[in-house]
Amino acid sequence: MSHSSPTPTGATERVRISCPGCGRSDHVDWPTGQADLLYRCFNCHKEHTLHRRGSGH
Ligand SMILES: [Zn+2]
Repeated sequence: MSHSSPTPTGATERVRISCPGCGRSDHVDWPTGQADLLYRCFNCHKEHTLHRRGSGH
């Protein structure tokens, strides 16, 4: 950790989620600093808005 550059635009985190629709576990590239993410499940073919855990509440 020698560099002190700010978070680059377009940076993402690998986040493990479970589909609200079918419960399937998946990993998504979640943009750093973004609270919500639109997730399309390839299993149940539905779109869900996911909310990042541990942010605020
Ligand atoms: Zn699903």
